[in-house]
Amino acid sequence: MKETSNFIKTIMENDLESGRVKEIITRFPPEPNAYLHIGHARAIITDFETAKAFNGYTNLRFDDTNPTKEKQEFVDAIIEDLKWLGYEPANVFYGSDYFEKTYEKALLFIKKGLAYVDDLSQEQMSQMRDTKNGAGIESPYRNRSVEENLRLFQEMRDGKYQEGEKTLRAKIDMTSPNINMRDPVIYRIIHSEHHRQGNKWCIYPMYDFAHPLQDAFEGVTHSLCSIEYDNHRPLYDWVIEHAEVEHTPHQYEFGRLNISHTVLSKRYLRALVDSGKVEGYDDCRMPTLVGLRRKGYTPDSIRNFIVSTGLSRINSTVDFDLLDNFLRDDLKLKVSRPNAIINPLKVTITNYPEGEIEYLDCPNNQENEEMGSRQIAFSRHCYIERDDFIEEKPNKKWKRLAKGVEVRFMHAYFVKCEDVVKDENGNIIELLCTYDKATKSGSGFNERKPNGNIHFVEATTALPATFNHFESLLVEETEENKNLDLFERLNPHSLNVYNGFVEASLAQTKPGDKYQFVRNGYYTTDKNSTSEHLVFNLTASLKSSFTL
Ligand code: ATP
Ligand code: MG
Repeated sequence: MKETSNFIKTIMENDLESGRVKEIITRFPPEPNAYLHIGHARAIITDFETAKAFNGYTNLRFDDTNPTKEKQEFVDAIIEDLKWLGYEPANVFYGSDYFEKTYEKALLFIKKGLAYVDDLSQEQMSQMRDTKNGAGIESPYRNRSVEENLRLFQEMRDGKYQEGEKTLRAKIDMTSPNINMRDPVIYRIIHSEHHRQGNKWCIYPMYDFAHPLQDAFEGVTHSLCSIEYDNHRPLYDWVIEHAEVEHTPHQYEFGRLNISHTVLSKRYLRALVDSGKVEGYDDCRMPTLVGLRRKGYTPDSIRNFIVSTGLSRINSTVDFDLLDNFLRDDLKLKVSRPNAIINPLKVTITNYPEGEIEYLDCPNNQENEEMGSRQIAFSRHCYIERDDFIEEKPNKKWKRLAKGVEVRFMHAYFVKCEDVVKDENGNIIELLCTYDKATKSGSGFNERKPNGNIHFVEATTALPATFNHFESLLVEETEENKNLDLFERLNPHSLNVYNGFVEASLAQTKPGDKYQFVRNGYYTTDKNSTSEHLVFNLTASLKSSFTL
């Protein structure tokens, strides 16, 4: 991958030079409450690549402090996604493994008079924190004694209270202009089983308290996160300042990556899956890493795409089309280029003997000779793309087949359309053509010039195949639809399924295999493809649909 500089690397370089840190340690801290999406790829790449640039290392740390939403399934999927992207964490840690140590720190804060048990309801608390006009209002429980706080916090841990009945709050400053500093909750009661801790705990630390402590326990030097945590940084620093920890981590923020017409929010992606509107997290239309992988994007294309979007403190919005450019760059010289007919039209070569078949040599990738060649079949019965035929040639620009017109079937012969067969509704269902034996590809024949080159597959050896084409899950935002619920903005045409044929050489294709189907695009064999029923996903078209 191209080595690029960014503002985070500059900070790290300065910190090493000034001696603030001796090495660079970062962490990627996903909450295991859904699958990762392309936005997370920016965070992963930033965490891993910046540390790597200075011979440092990166931990994967599951931020699993909310038992109601977290699952082992998501933990496994996140580990798998990182591996697939090509990143190996130095350690895999779990925020929940620090529960005891985090609890000890909470006791320390209470003893220092920096935390208190509050009885206010969540609603009362938020009204008093954000009064809409100036300072917040102090809780009547704010000045409980250390002894009382210790006793109540112990009782909270012992399960004496219902959810919401009591919280532990940091005692900071109810007049702070930053709401996050107005005595935030740092522990809450949740009576739910934790995916790793079982029923050991019924009090759980909040992110803003747990995260800086976890960073400090691990010796993380640069805690990188997206920009919405910007105004949580004073709280992060406050926790570190008073926690009596050995290491002093710092938080730095970068802009989020957004994709046009795509929602990158785990909550929304989970709702989509739960609604059954998509096949699952790995539906090819999902912006999840598992979805992009199934659709056929490669780790290199994703990494290069992310790096190309740059890194700054400002959120950026880019188009998925840009990712397609990187996919094409990656696969152009690597994958073979077989023939597939997505939308077939039957062709009968009337002067070719029935029952005979011949094989013609065809390079696997014209731009990469090292990929060798294979034999493709030709006979009286073939299929071409319906789009490659028009009954009457409209103008000189039409460089494909038409009635009375001759084209080259790629790597085979010149073929001329003599007549068409129509059904009772006037739809063309078959072309009657002739071929010229003298025009065999490679024979040096150059007496006539064909009206273009089109691809084909021989019909008796062709394998039936399904092709999935995708469009954006959401329709473009407009003035009329912008306030609609995201479910009402779902694109009814986001999945288009075609039934066609591929050449026989694809009989052994396996899920994940990639091809450039001649003149059609880059395709990847779907996970549901079997030798009885081949299924391919269109990963990217051959040409960019936008200009840079
Ligand atoms: P979401 O908003 O989708 O629910 P999240 O931030 O709550 O995501 P986490 O599991 O907490 O999800 O994310 C792990 C890390 O990924 C965080 O440090 C977060 O800053 C970062 N991250 C999440 N979404 C993006 C994005 N779109 N662009 C850049 N970084 C992101
Ligand atoms: Mg988060």
